[in-house]
Parts: sequence; C-alpha cells; structure tokens
Amino acid sequence: MRKPTFSIGGVHPHDSKISRECRVEPMPLPDSAYIAVAQHIGAPAKPLVAVGDKVKVGQPIAEPGGFVSAFIHASVSGTVKSIAPRADLAGNPVMTIEIAREGDEWMEGIDLSDTLVTEIPDDNKAILDKIRLGGIVGLGGATFPTHVKLSPPPGSKCERLIINGCECEPYLTSDFRCLLEKGEQVVIGAAILKQVLGGVPCTVAIEENKPEAIAHIGEVIARLRKQSPKYDGIEVMVMKMRYPQGGEKQLIDAVMHRQVGSGALPISVGAVVQNVGTALAVYDAVLKNKPLVDNTLTVTGECFPHQANLLVRVGTPLRTILEHLGGIPDEAVKVISGGPMMGKAVANLDAATLKGTSALLLLTEKQTARGEEGPCIRCGKCAEACPMGLEPFLLQKLSRIGDVEALEANAAQDCIECGCCLYSCPANIPLLDIIRLGKADAMKAIRERAAAAKAAAEAAK
Ligand code: SF4
Ligand code: SF4
Repeated sequence: MRKPTFSIGGVHPHDSKISRECRVEPMPLPDSAYIAVAQHIGAPAKPLVAVGDKVKVGQPIAEPGGFVSAFIHASVSGTVKSIAPRADLAGNPVMTIEIAREGDEWMEGIDLSDTLVTEIPDDNKAILDKIRLGGIVGLGGATFPTHVKLSPPPGSKCERLIINGCECEPYLTSDFRCLLEKGEQVVIGAAILKQVLGGVPCTVAIEENKPEAIAHIGEVIARLRKQSPKYDGIEVMVMKMRYPQGGEKQLIDAVMHRQVGSGALPISVGAVVQNVGTALAVYDAVLKNKPLVDNTLTVTGECFPHQANLLVRVGTPLRTILEHLGGIPDEAVKVISGGPMMGKAVANLDAATLKGTSALLLLTEKQTARGEEGPCIRCGKCAEACPMGLEPFLLQKLSRIGDVEALEANAAQDCIECGCCLYSCPANIPLLDIIRLGKADAMKAIRERAAAAKAAAEAAK
C-alpha cells in the first residue's frame, strides 16, 4: 500500500541521521544562562525581575507582552546579573536576561521524579492555564504559543489533531529520540491536547525511516488505551519519506487531504498540528508542573566526532555546548542552527539556545561549497520541487528588482523557506537566499496595509 505524503513538490535529500543511536544525555549546567525575552512568535515577553534578584529554576522571569506571546522562566537558579540587549546567533541585539548560576534550586511543586503520570484531569480550562503559565510554545520550529493554538477563533472547529513526528530535516534526531525514550509522555501529552480540542481524533505522523519509533509508539498507545478511554482515538500513521513532510501545510495535506489556503491557518481546514517535543512539554507542564526550561537538541555533522542528543537548559551559550563535546574540529567551517535545509548559519557562537533550538550542525568546506552560479536555463525544476506551488525562478527575479507588488501577487509571502528550490537548481542560483528577502518585503507591505486599515477603521468609529 502506498504510504501517505503531500501532493505537490518536495525532494528526497539523504537523511544523514548519523546521531540516531545517541541517547539523550543531560548537558552540564552552564555558569550563566542568557535568556532572550523574544523567543516565540508574537510580542516579546516583558521582564518580571530586576538586576540583583535571586531566582529559582522554573520561576517566571518574563510575562507575555500581548495576546500572542508566552511566559519565560528561569532555566537556572542564581542571581539576575543583567537585563540588556545581547547578540543573537545572527549578531542582532535581543533583550536578554542573564542569570549567574548558583547551584540548581527548583521552584516548589515541580515534580522532577521519573514517576509516569497517566491520569489526565477533566478540567480543560485548568489544563490550558497550565500550558499558558508553563510558557509552552511549538517546538517544531515555529515557536507559536501553544495555548493560543489550542483556542480556535469563534466559528472555527478542530476536527483532527496531528502530532508531527516526521522530523524530515536531514541530520536531526532529537524528535526520534524523544519518541523512543519518552514515548509514554508524548502519547499522554497528545491525549491532553486531544481532550482540550474536544476529543477529536489524533494522528501521530512518523516517517517510514523511523521503524523503531513507529513500533514503540504503537505499543505505548495500545498499553495506555487499556488504562483509560482518554487514549482512544490516537493512531500512528506511517508516512512516506519526503522533505518537507513536517511542514504544517504539507502534513495536513498528507494526513487529511486538505489544503490550507494562502495566508490561512491550519484551523481553517479543521486541523491543529503540534510537534512531538511540544506534546512532551505539555505533559511536563500539565502533569508535572514543569515549565519549559529545557529542550533536546541534536549536535551533529560528519566532521564532528562527538555526535549527541543533549537535554539543554534554555539560554545555554552555543560555544559552551560545543566545548562540552570536545570543541569545534578544524575541518568544520560552518555551524548551522537547525537542519541543513531550513537552518540558519550561526554568526555568533556566544549566542544562547532558545526554546525552539533543535540542532547544531557542523559542516566542512566541501559540504558548504556552492557551485558557481550560472544563468537560469528555465528547466522548471525549482517550480516542480516547490511544495507551495510557487514559481521560485520568477520570485527570485522579482526579488532582485525589488518589485514588491508583483512579489505579493505571486504569493512570495507563502514561501515556507524550505529550500527545495535551491536544492533542485542545476544553475546553482541561491534561490532561497534571494526569495527570503523578497518575502520579507512582501510581508512588510501586507503588515503595513493591515495596520493602516485598522487605524482607518478605528478613526471612523
Ligand atoms: S523555499 Fe519557498 S520558493 Fe523555494 S521551494 Fe520552498 S516554498 Fe518554494
Ligand atoms: S531550477 Fe534554476 S535553472 Fe531551473 S528554472 Fe529554476 S532557477 Fe532556472
């Protein structure tokens, strides 16, 4: 039987999951944590602490700065040393709370034991509150506040919850390890999310290159189902391996055969998608009272002798992580935060991890070398590969000449920055890099128009 996948575009890069056998190990605590107040989609959080304050792990140190925003918690215990702009991985200043660590003292009420809690409380409002207060955001890359995603706007209704266990980016293995090592917690987290969404069916989507995880999650679901009907309606779906299957719109297409329109949210077609790591974080927040203070990230690359999956406290400097694993080998010329297709080059190794940091990938000169750029030969391969049905050759042209109106008319704002076009181009045109700039301009124009329309509507009242 053909395995489900999305209907248009996509590519098949080698999966390079060379760290797949590395069990998740806790990273030693950093001497200082540098916790950015803007590390989720939406308004930056507002600091709740002052320089000199003593904090414990799990204590809220910044509160949501708007409706779409999230709480941020101390990831280490100690003293707040500074609240000031600090360079992120691209070198841009971001307001950051620095905590000089003293010991490892946690807030009271957080359950750090290994005891598995399987009983899900009935009170959905209390569950949503715990998710909000726990600062849970989507850990699949988007970092959208989870409590907002779980509160569909009036008139929309969730029909299916999809737990995204595809991890289709090459090299990344933290979700795979999480499915294998914390499968129970992931399924319980999924059941919590499912209940909050009104008991809708839930699909745990896992790509076919993770047979151990597919078998394990299937067993876990069967076991938990015997304990409580709250685990009914959760199923594993084995997906064909194809990039970018883990893209929200692609996964909804693959699982539900529904297309999310331009600029629309998944809920417009009745879907809510949550990542495996998010389901685990929801379990922790709701049943263990543990806010999002750490996450698992993969450290990998063929030139890196110390492959690892590490449980890292949020705000740990990237340099500290790499030094813990033996330092950067001479052959490595580039560090990427994330995977090779969608990740971002790290310009500043003193930048610290964020809630959504999924990987550090080290690449050699040979791996980063790009062939000489030639003229477009109009082969159409980029358009064939685009999973959003865009025309990358046209978008890059419009981007180069700065035609924002035409970029918008040709849906540059729908680009998910997956890199399939760049991967497919025989002329080595840096399509993604160029389209990214055009997309930013188109998004800016859309935002400005929306703000102007809102201001005009308010003035007319
Ligand atoms: S990066 Fe954008 S334009 Fe290129 S294939 Fe992906 S969605 Fe299409
Ligand atoms: S893949 Fe490259 S060469 Fe082919 S049409 Fe697209 S931009 Fe042109």
